[in-house]
Amino acid sequence: MRIIPLSEGSFTIGKDKIFQPFDAERDELDQRSSGSLLVEVQPFCVVHDRDVLLLDTGLGFSQQGQLQIHTNLQAAGINPGDVTKVLMSHLHKDHAGGVSFKDRLGNAQLAFPNATYFVQRREYDYAEDTGYPSFIVDEFEVFDRHPRVFWLHDDAGTIDNYIRYEVTSAHSPWHQVFWIETDEGMVFFGGDDAPQYKQMLNRFVAKYDFDGRKCMELRQQWWEQGQAEGWTFLFYHDIAQPVVKGQPGLVAPVQ
Ligand SMILES: [Zn+2]
Repeated sequence: MRIIPLSEGSFTIGKDKIFQPFDAERDELDQRSSGSLLVEVQPFCVVHDRDVLLLDTGLGFSQQGQLQIHTNLQAAGINPGDVTKVLMSHLHKDHAGGVSFKDRLGNAQLAFPNATYFVQRREYDYAEDTGYPSFIVDEFEVFDRHPRVFWLHDDAGTIDNYIRYEVTSAHSPWHQVFWIETDEGMVFFGGDDAPQYKQMLNRFVAKYDFDGRKCMELRQQWWEQGQAEGWTFLFYHDIAQPVVKGQPGLVAPVQ
């Protein structure tokens, strides 16, 4: 088993919900619109005995006509065509930007042509109804009736007997999280219910969550169980501490 964090860098996001690249060496946070948050974006590739998994797909930025997530995968020796499963926690634009790209004729194509995409159907319907600025429908509308999409309809279930998903309705109404059984124990991807290591250690209710109290309670529950059982946590919005292995008594971010 191999875990590859695919960092896309740091961004500021203001009230307009537009992500702008932020370079800590060059940019000043107070030059950005007031109330801007600094966030990091980082999908994960998990190379498993049975699959090459991708967990969420990033912002979908392109450089020189190539998706950043393709560039990052190739730098780790993985071709986009090698990915066999894409697991989507939810469809907010910082998670679903890289699901597709526009070909030369302007038609949307799935960015991972040989993968099956696992998407919660109720999240898709909700995202399509809600639209911009939280969602960029244009980027994931290709899912509709696409043969490579496997729609998840239930509140919880398993995929191929080694991946479990559960709808939490915490960060967003139909957000789901994943547990992946591996030869090195359980890998847990909490998406935006559990986006950063430090959030596992501090009890707080975030304003940007659909149900902030539930997020807080779930984080605490997962952290306790994951420490006891040695889960490996993957943090989508934490470039400094992307992968943390739970162990009893782990309380401070490991440097
Ligand atoms: Zn996010």
